[in-house]
Amino acid sequence: MINLEMKEEVVKIAKKADQMELCRHKSGNFSVIDRKEKLIYITPSGISREDLTPEKIIVVDMEGNIVDGNLQPSIETSMHITAYKIKPEAGGVAHTHSRYSTIFACMGKEIPPVSIEAIHYGGKPVKVAEFAPPGSKKLAQTIVEPMKESDVCLLKYHGVIAVGEDLEKALIKLIYVEEVAFLYYHMLALGQKEFMPLNLFDAILNG
Ligand SMILES: [Zn+2]
Repeated sequence: MINLEMKEEVVKIAKKADQMELCRHKSGNFSVIDRKEKLIYITPSGISREDLTPEKIIVVDMEGNIVDGNLQPSIETSMHITAYKIKPEAGGVAHTHSRYSTIFACMGKEIPPVSIEAIHYGGKPVKVAEFAPPGSKKLAQTIVEPMKESDVCLLKYHGVIAVGEDLEKALIKLIYVEEVAFLYYHMLALGQKEFMPLNLFDAILNG
């Protein structure tokens, strides 16, 4: 059965990401999963967030076949499906082209946890998935390795992706990745070479 609330949730978070300038115009994609029905609710391809309404959210099965909706699902649907398969506890997936995060994605440089804000996504370095063209099956596979021990990763020359218990929590992780990327960028610009020791995160996480 199709769940209207899930469609509304995808629209709400997609628009929020846009308002926060984590993605612009048509870039970025967002989804939630109904684990019981094995259905994914995802943003359509080629629609600006300002024109996005719950009716435009596409419902696909775990193979990417359209179950409900009149538009094409996001070209990154297979990446979302892969994320749900490798993260069985995930309820939402968010992908944006957040500016500072994408600088490091384009440089192929992981983002170390330079401030305690990284705790919001596990306190680990954000790794970079190898490059594959947007929308390709290969891109979906590139996230498997870097997301093994993390809920977030950078997509080389492209952007950033996060999974969360729900879609809002996935977006919050992207907000904090962007914040840490912003800090790290400026620390590098000021010539800083030493960063917060990783074992401090272990200490914080283990209380
Ligand atoms: Zn993208």
